[in-house]
Amino acid sequence: MKVLVVEDDAGVADPLIEGLRRNGFEVEHAITGTQAVAIARECDAVLLDLGLPDMDGMDVLREVRQVSEVPILIVTARGDEADRVIGLEFGADDYVVKPFSVRELSARIRAVSRRRRVEQPLQTERVQVDRARRSVTVDGAPLDLTAKEFDLVAVLAEEPGRVVPRQELLSRVWDPVWHGSGKTLDVHVSSLRRKLPDPALIETVRGVGYRLVDDDHAAAGGT
Ligand code: CA
Repeated sequence: MKVLVVEDDAGVADPLIEGLRRNGFEVEHAITGTQAVAIARECDAVLLDLGLPDMDGMDVLREVRQVSEVPILIVTARGDEADRVIGLEFGADDYVVKPFSVRELSARIRAVSRRRRVEQPLQTERVQVDRARRSVTVDGAPLDLTAKEFDLVAVLAEEPGRVVPRQELLSRVWDPVWHGSGKTLDVHVSSLRRKLPDPALIETVRGVGYRLVDDDHAAAGGT
């Protein structure tokens, strides 16, 4: 996932970019509004500082919005209430107030991306997930899934090949604050596998989680 950091102050930008990379993001950096508008549509999320040298941050926001539905988080220096309100009205997805932790920011970026992606269908080599209709087909054949089975596939199919940790699956499919044993997750995955034309499509990574295997990532599977 590629994040565009729009920030002219190197003292802020450098540690931020380093922190985002450590948290698993690919990062592009723009130091002017013009640059930001030019490359925003190639990115998966935009982190926009409103105080830029060449353009008003709100104009940057508006221009990016004209060409792209990319999730935008605005960064405000003082927690300026007016900036936040105007930013959200102009199509920002969220805002963060300086100073913020990279960890918190990473979570917010993932959350807004998730919200944006919710209506878009997911497609891997063999699996299609239509989230609007809540339907799944594998190799072109529709599956008859329960609600939880559908949710599991939808989370796994967001990033084929990525091992989704058990805790993340439990919190996103069941409850944000899951305190149970997690046994229910394994039971649902088993019943889901029985409905797949190829049970090896969902790989167990013992002690970690599950992943959806697609053709690009199948090499390590070998079941
Ligand atoms: Ca600035």
